Amino acid sequence: MQRPGKGKTPRRPGPKKGSNVEKDPVGVYCRIRPLGTEDQECCVEMISNSTIQLHAPDGLKANRNGEFKEMQYSFKKVFGINTTQMELFEDIGRPLVEDLIHSKNGLLFTYGVTGSGKTYTMTGSPGEGGLLPRSLDLLFNSIGPFQAKRFVFKPDDKNGMEIQSQVDALLERQKRDSQQSVPRTPSSRLKADPEFADMISPEEACKCDNVDDDCCYSVFVSYIEIYNNYIYDLLEDAPFDPIRPKPPQSKLLREDQNHNMYVAGCMEVEVKSTEEAFEVFWKGQKKRRIANTQLNRESSRSHSVFTVKLAQAPLDADGDHILQDKNQVTVSQLCLVDLAGSERTSRTRAEGSRLREAGNINQSLMTLRTCIEVLRENQMYGTNKMVPYRDSKVTHLFKNYFDGEGKVRMIVCVNPKADDYEESSLVMRFAEMAQEVEVARPVDRPICALAAGRRHRNQAFRDELSRRLEERGNSNNAEDPGLLNQLIESLPPIPRCELVDPADDQTLPNLIEVLERRHHIRQMITEQFNQTANMLRSKLQQFDSQIGTRETFIQNQQSKISEKDKVILNQRSEIDRLEKKSKTLEYKIDILQKTTDMYEQDKRSLQLELETREQRLQKELSERRRMEQRMQGMVTDTKLKWEKECERRVNAKQLEMQNKLWVKDEKLKQLKAIVTESNSSCSAERPQRPSRERDRDRNMGQKRSASPSPAAPPVRPTHRRSHSCGGEKWVDHKPSTNLDLDTVMQPILPNAIKVSTPNEKALSKCHKYVLRHQELASDGEIETKLIKGDVFKTRGGGQAVQFTDIETLKQENPTAPSRKRRSGSTEGPATNEDVENMAPVPSSSSANVYQKRRKF
Ligand code: ADP
Ligand code: MG
Repeated sequence: MQRPGKGKTPRRPGPKKGSNVEKDPVGVYCRIRPLGTEDQECCVEMISNSTIQLHAPDGLKANRNGEFKEMQYSFKKVFGINTTQMELFEDIGRPLVEDLIHSKNGLLFTYGVTGSGKTYTMTGSPGEGGLLPRSLDLLFNSIGPFQAKRFVFKPDDKNGMEIQSQVDALLERQKRDSQQSVPRTPSSRLKADPEFADMISPEEACKCDNVDDDCCYSVFVSYIEIYNNYIYDLLEDAPFDPIRPKPPQSKLLREDQNHNMYVAGCMEVEVKSTEEAFEVFWKGQKKRRIANTQLNRESSRSHSVFTVKLAQAPLDADGDHILQDKNQVTVSQLCLVDLAGSERTSRTRAEGSRLREAGNINQSLMTLRTCIEVLRENQMYGTNKMVPYRDSKVTHLFKNYFDGEGKVRMIVCVNPKADDYEESSLVMRFAEMAQEVEVARPVDRPICALAAGRRHRNQAFRDELSRRLEERGNSNNAEDPGLLNQLIESLPPIPRCELVDPADDQTLPNLIEVLERRHHIRQMITEQFNQTANMLRSKLQQFDSQIGTRETFIQNQQSKISEKDKVILNQRSEIDRLEKKSKTLEYKIDILQKTTDMYEQDKRSLQLELETREQRLQKELSERRRMEQRMQGMVTDTKLKWEKECERRVNAKQLEMQNKLWVKDEKLKQLKAIVTESNSSCSAERPQRPSRERDRDRNMGQKRSASPSPAAPPVRPTHRRSHSCGGEKWVDHKPSTNLDLDTVMQPILPNAIKVSTPNEKALSKCHKYVLRHQELASDGEIETKLIKGDVFKTRGGGQAVQFTDIETLKQENPTAPSRKRRSGSTEGPATNEDVENMAPVPSSSSANVYQKRRKF
């Protein structure tokens, strides 16, 4: 299992790239190759170390009437014709290899037309190794001593990396060795294939600093070719049949569980040295060449991808073995891509199937261009257009570099010759644009939790151990057979002990002596041995006691550590408690804050309501005041009106009563006159009145029997004076209670004596009498009645008035609604009743009544 996010190819974009992700633009470099010997005109000029200018060739200028623009293009750096492979590598290759060692991914590709120096830049030529061999050299020089044994790291077939124990790795090594009859690749520079031996000169060997020596490394290389949008594995060990050569099988692109793209079933060869790696590369290169020749392919139309994959895992705490933890394995990779020539098909003079293939190649470069353009647009304008990575294998394979993270470097190769001018300007335009695309910067690998310097300490320990063992071996190496022989040889030799002569008295004493001497030596050796053994024992005891003290010390330390642990635990729990408390407090604060907010809101709304209510109250108060004022005004008005009205009514009533009185008086007077007249003359002459009137008279006579004798009846004139006669004189009776109405229509009486109360004197002088009587009509208006009569001289010498006519003067408000019942109406029983009882009825038709009366 790989560490999450540390996949084979760059990481998949996180949760849609937060804005805080650091990004770097695609680094685009330009390399100008020297002009070929056959080429004359140079169209590319290096203006500064970051700018070039393209000059249109003379022929082209002539064709276009000199209108051709001289274009300048700027890049991260421009490498002129004198740039050495080493310089180029230091600027471009080294940072990528350093990143690779620090678990960061990189992609480097060369782009340009055929013959512009792409392969030269990437691979180089003998004596002038390109970026690829130099990168491998730098890598192995840096990680050389820290490499893991073969097969400790083992790629699975799903783009992941597994880790095996040393024993498993050893077993696998033995298994492979037995399977492979051919000896393994040479590991010394001297044995390298002469074809590529000069690619890396030992003098130029360089090294990376700050390599983590507490890790173990393994390098895997793979080499593929993409031709006609098919992927071929150049390292595949397919049995080659020279008679019926089988076309190579193409490979498929797959996505691993980290969503990184990889070539399924692609050979990944573990290599342990630059030479080995380069040999593998060369093997692929050869295969490519053979395939191209056999299948009649144009090598400049294929893309080649050489991938260097670096697996690393930390050493365990002892610094002795690799940590057997899959999650600790980190895999990074550097892809070195030599793209196909970017020229258009027409220029390659291709035909038939080759033309189709060329079209495909151009298609993949076109897709690359489109992808870069869309990426740039998306990044610059914040659009979210789909990047068509899947349209070609090349772009699909490198999708994760652009979408995820990693360092992307592009070297644009340019041949300054005139023929390439147009193609070169297209290449430059694309390359300049590619610089505007940004790629997420790879993040640093998390630091290992184990203490640093483990490998170093382990080495020092091993050295010390072997030194000590050596020391000890020199002083006391009893088991050495040589020493034993030496010891045996140092003993006095046993003399011949054959007894042939009974009188031999020398052999036995000699043997005895030798044996005694040997015994003595043995005793001495035993003593020495015992001494040494004792010494060793005491030393061991000492050592034991030392170990004991160390152990007690360790125990002490451990108890201290456990105490400290307890303290830490306590503190941790305390921290937890405090954190919880702070969380609850924060929660409470939150709630309080919310409550406060709520109350404040309530307060605000209540205040608002209060204000509106106050305003309403104020409005109502002012309204009331205004109403009061209006009511007061109305009351005064009404009061005044009613006062006036009352006064007017009282006056009218008074007038009416006066009139009634006056009429009664007049009737009495007439009666009196009649009575006196009848007394004085014959009563038979009196005309017969209708029975009803007679009865009434009788009644009246009965009623008025107690009254004084009436005046003489008025003398009836023989003829009636015309009303139109202007010579009549009028008594104009206008009671003082009358109101002056100031109406326009006023009765005009030219010869009138105006009186407020009628008197004998005035009546005697006049023939006509008129009373201006005012009363209140039913509609509330004042009605003026002109009650007219003739003045008679009574026989007694007095004056009597006989009413002949009533004129009603009435003023009406033209706007007032007309009343149905007018005061002058003659209909209705009430009026008839009134006619009987009240003599001067306010009606013009009541004149008839008076007419009747005049017959008295
Ligand atoms: P490409 O791969 O772009 O088709 P090559 O790398 O094969 O082009 O280069 C074509 C020829 O030009 C080769 O013979 C190579 O040696 C030569 N060449 C290219 N670039 C340089 C350079 N910078 N210096 C010297 N020779 C070069
Ligand atoms: Mg090439």
